[in-house]
Amino acid sequence: MVKKIANNHLFWDGCDTVQLAETYGTPLYVFSQNMIVEECRQLQESFIKKYDNVRVAYASKAFNTMAMIQLIEKEGLCLDVVSGGELYTAIKANYPAEKIEFNGNNKSIEEITMAITYGVGRIIVDSIQELEWIAAICREKNVTAKILFRITPEVEVATHDFISTGQKDSKFGIPLEESILFALIKQAIETPEIDFYGLHFHIGSQLFTNETHLLAAQVALDLIKKIQERFAYTVRELNYGGGFGARYKESDARKPYAYFLDPLMALTEQFCLENDLVRPAIVIEPGRSIVAEAGITLHQIGSIKEVPGVRKYVAIDGGMTDNIRPGLYEAEYDGILANKAGEKPTEVVTIAGKACESTDILIKDIHLPKIETGDIFATFSTGAYGYSMANNYNKLLIPAVVMVNEGESEVIVERQTFEQLLQNERMLKKLK
Ligand SMILES: *Cc1c(COP(=O)(O)O)cnc(C)c1O
Repeated sequence: MVKKIANNHLFWDGCDTVQLAETYGTPLYVFSQNMIVEECRQLQESFIKKYDNVRVAYASKAFNTMAMIQLIEKEGLCLDVVSGGELYTAIKANYPAEKIEFNGNNKSIEEITMAITYGVGRIIVDSIQELEWIAAICREKNVTAKILFRITPEVEVATHDFISTGQKDSKFGIPLEESILFALIKQAIETPEIDFYGLHFHIGSQLFTNETHLLAAQVALDLIKKIQERFAYTVRELNYGGGFGARYKESDARKPYAYFLDPLMALTEQFCLENDLVRPAIVIEPGRSIVAEAGITLHQIGSIKEVPGVRKYVAIDGGMTDNIRPGLYEAEYDGILANKAGEKPTEVVTIAGKACESTDILIKDIHLPKIETGDIFATFSTGAYGYSMANNYNKLLIPAVVMVNEGESEVIVERQTFEQLLQNERMLKKLK
């Protein structure tokens, strides 16, 4: 963790976080622009510049805001969206549609129409119904759609079950059964409005080993060989998904991108060479690894409650409403008292949220200096799936988001207001 401490305060990309909490209020998401850009450059160095005919599409669901999308475009990455809302955000941020890939296991007709109207670069198709809808919409508009099929590669990944997506029993992807998959591929090849590019998989998230990516890639490669043999059709693109692990706690041994990508590319190139296939374009879709560590969340400490002989609960002015991951899949975080950042830990406490749920516990048993009401608690690595999963449970307000960059700060999402909370609500016209 790159913790910069000065005058007993935690600094983030040159900004005093205690000052940020005072200026913008809490809870507050703070993103380091430098750290996001650094991740993008790592991907440039270890993939885009290193190999021909490859692309990186940022899986924007990790943190989909207009300012983030601006940065992604500036850094030369493509963009992955999974809903009409994410697509709309990208278009409003002036992101070029042809660099957008549209994923999702249940895209609606409206969403598909929107994607085709904007002219997104790829639609990653997850079912037979979807293929037929795309073809029908394209026929009506007299255009063609560039598609990939998302397959279920049937690999079990070493991560929490709740973030595994590549196992056979999954709502994501098309089963490998030849009677299903090959029928679909045949249909795609024969449909004039469909330009069939290739195959896609995404096996899960927060992975620290490359083995499952390699197993899944082998499945995809075997398939492109069969497609060549059976249909005399050359697959032009393979999308190996995202899932590269980020560092949440000191003990997380994050792997560099090259650890995943070099063996994947070696496998791919070797396979194509041996089987006399043109090596397809290779696309990856990292989300978490690009933004997780760049983001922190600042909360103010409120109630402090000692349960004698059991534990000390310290409550923050947010919780599962701004970070649902601990409650959702037992995600673990690390944090620090931002206003006592240079002090030694003297007690063990449990950081609790303020929502009315027992699972609303942010961190169990963390070692901190003497903690007092009014202190500012900073949680590390909240950049991915924090703001993007924020919700209004208990009618708590969605916090503001600030981008910091070398000592300067700028609001990129304003704090929600009570008025906005009610803007779509209507009183009953007739109260019977
Ligand atoms: C979520 C998702 C990703 C990104 O996963 P990360 O673990 O955040 O890297 C990539 N592709 C698809 C299709 C996804 O659903």
